[in-house]
Amino acid sequence: MRHIMDLMNRTILHLDLDAFFCSVEETRNNDLRGKPFAVGGKPDERGVVASCSYAARKFGVRSAMPMSRALRLVPNLLIVPGRHKLYSEVSKQVMARLHNLTDLVEQISIDEAFLDISDLRDKNPERIARELQADIRDELHLPSSIGIASNKLVAKIATEVGKKAAKGNGPPFGLTIVPAGEEAAFLVPLPADMLWGVGPKTFARLTELGIHTIGDIARWPENEMTRLFGENGRDLWRHAQGIDNRPIVTESETKSVSQETTFNVDIRDDKTLEKTLREQSKEVGRQLRKNDLAGKTVKLKIRWPDFTTLSRQTTLPTSTDNDDEIYRTAIKLMKTVRKPNQAVRLIGVGVSRIGTPVRQLSLWDAGSEKSRKLQEVVDQLQEKYGRDVIHKGDSN
Ligand SMILES: [Mg+2]
Repeated sequence: MRHIMDLMNRTILHLDLDAFFCSVEETRNNDLRGKPFAVGGKPDERGVVASCSYAARKFGVRSAMPMSRALRLVPNLLIVPGRHKLYSEVSKQVMARLHNLTDLVEQISIDEAFLDISDLRDKNPERIARELQADIRDELHLPSSIGIASNKLVAKIATEVGKKAAKGNGPPFGLTIVPAGEEAAFLVPLPADMLWGVGPKTFARLTELGIHTIGDIARWPENEMTRLFGENGRDLWRHAQGIDNRPIVTESETKSVSQETTFNVDIRDDKTLEKTLREQSKEVGRQLRKNDLAGKTVKLKIRWPDFTTLSRQTTLPTSTDNDDEIYRTAIKLMKTVRKPNQAVRLIGVGVSRIGTPVRQLSLWDAGSEKSRKLQEVVDQLQEKYGRDVIHKGDSN
C-alpha cells in the first residue's frame, strides 16, 4: 500500500482503445476500412450499436443507439455481428502489454485500463505513452488514446478530451497530459457531466442551479454542495477541484475464488451444512492451487429462508490455499452468525486478497509442507482422471 503522501505525487496513465470492437473487425476484414459500419444486433431484433466506426460517427451514429435509428442516419451502414470471444482474446493481448510495463494495472473494462507509472521514474511519461500506443498499433493494429495525470479521475477525463479534440476521419490516437498542479485549471471549462457521479438526474439539477461546467461546481462552497447533494455532493466538489486519491486496484486485490450452494429445501442440520462447506472449501482450495494462487481473506456467505443475505469475513495472518484452513475458518464464521437449528437457504465460501503463494520452506513446518505436496499430487491426479476418483481422507 502506498503511503498517503505518495498519493499526491503519482503518475497515472489511462488507456482506452478507440472504437475497439470495430477496430478489431477491421484487422480481420480489410474491406471494412474507412466504411461506415457498426458492430451490434440486427435492427429488426431491437439490436443496439455496441461500437461504431469513425466513418459512421461522422453521421451522428453513437454506441448504445438503437440499430434502427443508426440505419436511418446512415442507410448504407454495414452491420457486423459482435464476436465477443474474439474481442476478449484481443483485449488480453493488449492487457499483457500493459502488464509488461508495470504490475500496477487496473483493468476497468474490456478496452480500458489505468496504470500507475509513478515508479518508472527513469522514463518520461510522454515517451511511455507514445511507445505504448506505437506498440499496440504496430503489433496488434489497434488505435488507442491515452490520458496522463496525477490521479485516475483527471487521467480518464484527459483521455476523453483527447478523443473529442481529434480532427479528421480516422481514430483519434489521442494523447493528453495534465501536469501536476494543473488539474483544477484543466477541468474548469469542461461540461459538468464529464465528472464521475454526474448522471442525467444530477446534471439536470445542476443546470437548474446555473451550474454548467466543472469550474462552476468548483466555485460553489463545499458545504453548499454537500447540503444539496449529500455525500455525493462532497465528492463532486472534491473531484471538481481535481482531487482524487483512489489507488490503482490490481486484479489480485479484487479477484476471488468462491463456491456457493442453494439448497432445494431449507437446511437446519449442522452435518449437512458442515459437509457442504467442506466440499466447497475443497473446490476453492483446488482452484487456488491449480492457478498457483493463495488468498488472505476467507469469506462466508449465508442466506436465510426470507432471502436476507449476509457475509462475514476474516483475514488470516498469511495467505492460504489449504482446504482444511479454509474450511475451519468458514465454520468459525458460520458459528458467529447462525443460531443453533436456524434454517439456511444458501451457503457459500470464498477466498480473496489473492496473490502468488509465499512458499519459502521456512514458513512451512515439515508436516504442512508434506501435506501441501500430497495435496498437489492429489490435485494433479484429479485433474487428469476426474474429480470424483480420488478423495483425500478427512484428516480431522
Ligand atoms: Mg474505448
